[in-house]
Amino acid sequence: MKETLIFDLSREGRRGLCFGSPGVPEKPVGELLPERCLRSEPAALPELPESEVVRHFIRLSTFNYHVDKNMYPLGSCTMKYNPKINDLTSGLPGFTAMHPLQPEETSQGSLRLMYELSEMLAEIAGLDAVTLQPAAGAHGELTGILLIRKYHESQGSGRNKLLVVDSAHGTNPASAAIAGYEIVSVESNAEGRTDIDDLREKLDQDVAALMLTNPNTLGLFEKDIRTIEQLVHGNGSLLYMDGANMNALMGLTRPGDMGFDIVHYNLHKTFSAPHGGGGPGSGPVGVCRKLTPFLPVPVVEKLEQNGAGYYRLVTDRPQSIGRMMNFYGNFSVLVRAYTYIRMLGPEGVRRAAENAIINANYLLSRLVETFDLPYPRPVMHEFCLSGDRQKKQHGVKTLDMAKRLLDYGFHAPTVYFPLIVSEALMIEPTETETRETLDAFADALLSIADEAENSPELVFDAPVNTPVGRLDEAQASRKLDICCSGC
Ligand SMILES: *Cc1c(COP(=O)(O)O)cnc(C)c1O
Repeated sequence: MKETLIFDLSREGRRGLCFGSPGVPEKPVGELLPERCLRSEPAALPELPESEVVRHFIRLSTFNYHVDKNMYPLGSCTMKYNPKINDLTSGLPGFTAMHPLQPEETSQGSLRLMYELSEMLAEIAGLDAVTLQPAAGAHGELTGILLIRKYHESQGSGRNKLLVVDSAHGTNPASAAIAGYEIVSVESNAEGRTDIDDLREKLDQDVAALMLTNPNTLGLFEKDIRTIEQLVHGNGSLLYMDGANMNALMGLTRPGDMGFDIVHYNLHKTFSAPHGGGGPGSGPVGVCRKLTPFLPVPVVEKLEQNGAGYYRLVTDRPQSIGRMMNFYGNFSVLVRAYTYIRMLGPEGVRRAAENAIINANYLLSRLVETFDLPYPRPVMHEFCLSGDRQKKQHGVKTLDMAKRLLDYGFHAPTVYFPLIVSEALMIEPTETETRETLDAFADALLSIADEAENSPELVFDAPVNTPVGRLDEAQASRKLDICCSGC
């Protein structure tokens, strides 16, 4: 797989387009533009027929890896296949031709969609109200933290610490820091779950909230969540759930029922809006009743009018934290998530979570004898292996194995995260993969483990089948010993 530069494909005089005569007298360029703006040489543009331009870019596009091409096992990122009907509905002219400043009377359909999506998300999390404004998971975290601050202010207290568990996604401490909080790290125990004793010790009157991911980034359910909830609330603090992993919970159990006060969702993970590559995301935030007055404005409200609903945007909420985004959030992502939930229905939502869990456990069972599993427990939607065995016995690092997977036609898993697992390989298959695909992925990893043992140079040199070979990352990876998954 190689592609020649478009400049090297160029042949003088080839054209993709011919302009007809303009029908008015042409003026010399020098008469239209001042001298200093003129080029001394003609621009060095490639010259090709249209067919060659199209083929060049189509070939390049096939070098890309994406979830429409094959499984994308990036742990913590929930790279599920996104049904195409989502694109169809979000592309309906009734939505795309809307203007955000259009009057309420002519925006009833869109407002209704937002209202109903909030209601469905609230139901899924077992919470009272949801804002759809935040543009991503991390932005949802920031919104949640601002709600926490506003709540404590309304209680007349100025708590300045946030507790974050050490297995948390890096965005948790980052969001807390941006909101100006002091971050106190709570340790994980030998089981990979929150260390309750450490939590008890660190809970004091300055703690505004505990941020917890459940299931956590090791794919483990916090089974002591009741105890945690009592400790946190008993201290007058709030309990925040990073709900980016809702794919493991939806339809099965609800954070609100576990005692969480605030949850953010990642519509671009759990609710099947495409992501990876910097497209628009959406990170709605759900809250319990006592936090609803603080939600960002505008809020969509429903009024009953002659038996039908009338939807309006309400900005008059004196205790609100204000706006988190211009207009109403990333609307086209909201349409996709709405479509996804409506297509599945309550039963389908639950089955998606069940299948995500079964797929992860099936894949784990195929790999567990060959790779180390630092926290040997049944998992939820993802699991975290360690490449320690391959590194110690054969000098092959997780980074090498991840690169070799590309040669087998798979995207690499998340590597070197979470930080509490050495040589981490964090794998999340999602529910949308068939058993055959899971087997093919497991076979590839097992075959790489075999290569690590018998012909490690194959793994050190990887990737060799991709358009671009191994980059000189030696220096960077030695310095950081980390490779970011970039989701
Ligand atoms: C993805 C993720 C986030 C951050 O979400 P973004 O939309 O990328 O900002 C936060 N926490 C967890 C556990 C995640 O997996």
